[in-house]
Amino acid sequence: MGPVKASPQSQLRLLELADLDAELARLDHRRRNLPEAAELARLEARAGELKDALVVTETELGDLAREQARAERDVDQVRTRIDRDRTRLDAGQVSAARELATLQSEIESLRRRQGDLEEIVLELMERREGLVSRRDELSAERDRLGVETAEMTARRDAAAKEIDEHTAKAADQRGGVAAEVPSDLLALYEQIRDARGVGAAALRAGRCEGCHLTLNTVDLNQIRASAPDEVLRCEECRRILVRTPESGL
Ligand SMILES: [Zn+2]
Repeated sequence: MGPVKASPQSQLRLLELADLDAELARLDHRRRNLPEAAELARLEARAGELKDALVVTETELGDLAREQARAERDVDQVRTRIDRDRTRLDAGQVSAARELATLQSEIESLRRRQGDLEEIVLELMERREGLVSRRDELSAERDRLGVETAEMTARRDAAAKEIDEHTAKAADQRGGVAAEVPSDLLALYEQIRDARGVGAAALRAGRCEGCHLTLNTVDLNQIRASAPDEVLRCEECRRILVRTPESGL
């Protein structure tokens, strides 16, 4: 297989192709790096944290409720015992001085015990209030986050849709241009594009528009001497170098 030859018109088509490929690459990059998608990921991470925090809070509330019920039962028991002792005392069932003193001291110690237990119940209630307000804050944030996530999802979808439409249009245009490029030239272009990202660049004012190398006089003279259908390559970036009326030849 000899070197690829192509008419200047076909070579100029490669510049259109390169522009469309650059446009498609830009669109692809934008599609993969939507700020809305990054924001959604952040919102989803926060939603996960909130869900975990809510589970922890609900569990603590359940534990606390059981603890409180236990403490309240203890208070009731102590109160019942005090009532029973008081009934015995009031009914005059106890007359012996020592027994009386024992009973009174028992009532006293039961009262202290009741006071301590009531203190515990109060503490548990306070902790419960704290936890309930924490749970309410977490649920409120979760609800706000749900709204924000829905809005952000809609914005992301709209942005993606717009990019997809541009992409479809550019791909369609590219297909049209590629169809007009001879297959051997197109194959060479694709091969270079696969390897280097860009397949062709214009020679403009003595400079490769691909790598911005300014060609020296020797190179320019060599280009001037080349046949129009010769497919040139930039010595620096190896892209197909396309001559245009602005090449400065
Ligand atoms: Zn170059």
